[in-house]
Amino acid sequence: MKTKNVSETTRDTYLPYGKQWIDEEDIEAVVKVLKGDYLTTGPAIQAFEQKVAEYVGAKFAVAFSNGTAALHGACFAAGIGNGDEVITTPMTFAASANCVLYQGGTVVFADIDPKTYNIDPNEIANKITKNTKAIIPVDFTGQPVELDKIHELAKKHDLVVIEDAAHAIGAEYKGKKVGSLSDMTMFSFHPVKHVTSGEGGMIVTNNKKYYEKLLQFRSHGITRDTELMQENHGPWYYEMQFLGYNYRMTDFQAALGCSQMDKIDMFVEKRKEIVAKYNQAFQEIPEVITPFQNESGDSSWHLYIIRLNLDDLSVGRKDIFEALQKQNVGVNVHYIPVHLLPFYQGLGYSKGSLPNAEKLYEEIISLPLFPAMTDQDVEDVISIFTQTVKTYSK
Ligand SMILES: *Cc1c(COP(=O)(O)O)cnc(C)c1O
Repeated sequence: MKTKNVSETTRDTYLPYGKQWIDEEDIEAVVKVLKGDYLTTGPAIQAFEQKVAEYVGAKFAVAFSNGTAALHGACFAAGIGNGDEVITTPMTFAASANCVLYQGGTVVFADIDPKTYNIDPNEIANKITKNTKAIIPVDFTGQPVELDKIHELAKKHDLVVIEDAAHAIGAEYKGKKVGSLSDMTMFSFHPVKHVTSGEGGMIVTNNKKYYEKLLQFRSHGITRDTELMQENHGPWYYEMQFLGYNYRMTDFQAALGCSQMDKIDMFVEKRKEIVAKYNQAFQEIPEVITPFQNESGDSSWHLYIIRLNLDDLSVGRKDIFEALQKQNVGVNVHYIPVHLLPFYQGLGYSKGSLPNAEKLYEEIISLPLFPAMTDQDVEDVISIFTQTVKTYSK
């Protein structure tokens, strides 16, 4: 069915799949820090940490230069080292797995649940060995993973749970905010995520030991805390007690992050409104499958991933993707399963080993989703996407 002419619905301007929202308050907050005394290691860092910790209901928070560095810190704090196995999902950004390798650990991928697209707790159970040390579940697209089941497995096998919530600040699981539930939870403040600090990341935790390790890891493994030092030569004295990194965030980034946190509920609300419109428009189209909605979890909707029923279409995903791009709809694919990336292939992970993730990858397209989208933007995506799919319907 070709009901509309392509030229009727093509946008004049390119709509990206994700984009930050920066307003005058954000700009003022950054400028204020730039005019002040501290560009780094100043009070804005603690203010940002405190704001995020309070928002998610965690006791402690440590800001990092980016989310990947934060995950590295969490792997260090969890004691991951040579020979330790860490289980994560292949349906994620490479950072969720790379952080394990930074510490000399081994990544073990557990396949996804084809319905939720999140890591399948049964698959995790199948992959646990005596060498397993931690699980890094990812709240993919903002949908919380099945935390009850994952925490139960972790308790039974004495594993640390490092929740990768790069997509899920503002999401809830059984009425509790993501960030208050796992041993450590990571948030990212990259510009496509809900809240941005340019680059930035954070670990939140309720565990004081992890908190202290994370603080020290962020700054070369150095401490000035006299309680933690082995000696004390005088007021200038500090100790480097292990190999850490410079993973610090700047104060002007933290000021931006703080100002953005004031808008988090509005950001999540706007994303939900757009998702509701997409679902409404797409759920009756037989050629596509709309995203799963978790009953026990409340997604914060970082991504809107639509799955194509390729049997009902006369062309492949690539053709649909290119047709949308041509019409100025900035689509994307999240993600190429990590084990299929050339580096991981080189480590010996094989194609065909994680069939659910591999099949999903063949069929998905991420549609634009960000709070600054106008009603017209949303309508454009709906009409262009619907028409494109109809054009290629069998
Ligand atoms: C963005 C992202 C990261 C890494 O965060 P950065 O701040 O970009 O380093 C990790 N995991 C997932 C799932 C992400 O989407």
